[in-house]
Parts: sequence; structure tokens; C-alpha cells
Amino acid sequence: MASQVSGGSLLAALDVEHPEWRPLLVLIEAAQREAERPHWARFVPAPGHQGREGRPLLDGAVISVAPKLIERWVRHILALAASAGTEVEPLVNAVAAGRLDPSLLFETAVSQDVDRFHEIARVERDYRGVLRGLASLIAMPMLQTCWRVWAERVPTDWTYGYCPVCGGWPALAEIRGLDGARHLRCGCCGSDWRTEWLRCPFCREGDHEKLGFLVSPEGLERQSIEVCDVCRGYVKTITTLTAIRPDDVLLHDLATLPLDMAALERDYRRPAARGSAVAVGVVAESWRLRDLLSLRA
Ligand SMILES: [Zn+2]
Ligand SMILES: [Zn+2]
Repeated sequence: MASQVSGGSLLAALDVEHPEWRPLLVLIEAAQREAERPHWARFVPAPGHQGREGRPLLDGAVISVAPKLIERWVRHILALAASAGTEVEPLVNAVAAGRLDPSLLFETAVSQDVDRFHEIARVERDYRGVLRGLASLIAMPMLQTCWRVWAERVPTDWTYGYCPVCGGWPALAEIRGLDGARHLRCGCCGSDWRTEWLRCPFCREGDHEKLGFLVSPEGLERQSIEVCDVCRGYVKTITTLTAIRPDDVLLHDLATLPLDMAALERDYRRPAARGSAVAVGVVAESWRLRDLLSLRA
């Protein structure tokens, strides 16, 4: 079962079990490879605050980047998406014609401001959520590097249901190790934060009479679906011995698609809106240098 393996073997297993997902798997693999490149760590700013009162660390960040590197990455993933046959022509054409600045696209993706992403892409509708998924993949190398660099800065008493780094809702929950601690995991940045048992991450309901489990589809014994009858939200839960690697959270999210189907059949949903909006500015390194020099002149 693909969902019970990890790392490169999970990607390979999904590729064998679901050849129809290959176009998406190619994009995820590209984003994983990109996230491993060391230059992203150079762009991670120091957080401007301590992440108190539910404010994700990314909120208010100004990321200073090398435009050429951003442009190379954005063009690469767009080209891959186009060759995989996804509906990204408006974006590819706008970038190729110089009408759309890749850094602006990158800034919108890192902010995960999907409405603005659609506006920039000049599309009226996001057919099958292609652009939403693409925005997450464009942002993934930066967001995962932020998590790697900031992990120690996340407040240990973070009790919110959304990600303490990027503000996204959890992709899944892990019941981990021998003590069965419950951790929520972000599919965008890979972050990992501990949470109480019997607490809805979306509306924070804690009354056990309003929370429950759905029976897992056959063959998925180590997985379950936690549901909330107040907000009708659900979170997929996986029992693990050790933490899922940050860059594999998205693959586990994909591998557990039968759980999503089972939840949707019973009218439970993942919230469409973000957990907590974050404002992120992206500026060019060279612009900042010029600015500094002009101040000195
Ligand atoms: Zn996150
Ligand atoms: Zn709820």
C-alpha cells in the first residue's frame, strides 16, 4: 500500500499505483528537489515577531530574493506544468511575453493568496483547482526552507489549528510514537505542531459528543478520519512510529485520497479559506543593494 511507505519510495509507489497522477507527481518531485537546493536558506528572513497570539511567523515577513533564481524556478515549474497538459497557458504566456513578473507570481504563491493568484493569472475560474495546487508547489521550496530554519522559533505552546509558520490548515494529523502524541502537519511548509486529542483544528470544538471518527475504507487500518459536527470539517489521521518527513507530507496527503472521498461522501469538508492570512513582501536583493547605495550617496 503506497501510503505505508515513505520518502522516494512513496513517490515511486504512487507512480506505480496511480499512473494517472503522473503529471502531478512530476511537479511534486520537482518541488521537492528544488526545496533541497541550499540557496533558499539565504532568502529566509529573521521573523519580525515571536509568533504570539496566533500570528504565523511568516506574517509580515519581507523576503529578499535573487530575481534570477526565482525566475528560473517559476519558469521551470510552469514549463513542467504546461508539458504535463495542465491548464496553465495564461500564466506561461504572460511570463514568456514579459507581462507577468515571476517575482510577483512567487510573492502571491508564498502568501498563498489564491484569489490574488487567480487575478494575476487573469483566469475567471480555476478549473479543477489547478492554479491553487500550482501556487502551493511554487511556494513549497521557500516555505519548507522557512520551516527548516524557523522550527526552533515556533512557540511550544502553539494551540491553534492552523500552521504556526505559514497559516495554512493542516493536511493531516499524525498519531505518533509509543505515547501516541497527536501532531498536526502542514502540507505547504511541512511544519509539525503538537495538539490535544479531541480538538477540532478548524473551529476548536473540544466537546467529545460533537467530535467523532469515521470508519476507514478497507485496507487503510492505520488511518482514520476525525470529524467535527459543529463546522463539518474533517482531518485525516495517520498512525506513525516517527515523524513524516516535511517534504513527504504532501505525498501522504495524496496517498490518503480514499479518506477524503469517504469524508466527502458524508458531507464533511476541508475549509476552503486559509487558517490565518499572512502578508508577505518579496523584494529583489539587487534592489535593496541599490537602495542602500543611494542612501549612502
Ligand atoms: Zn505551513
Ligand atoms: Zn469544527
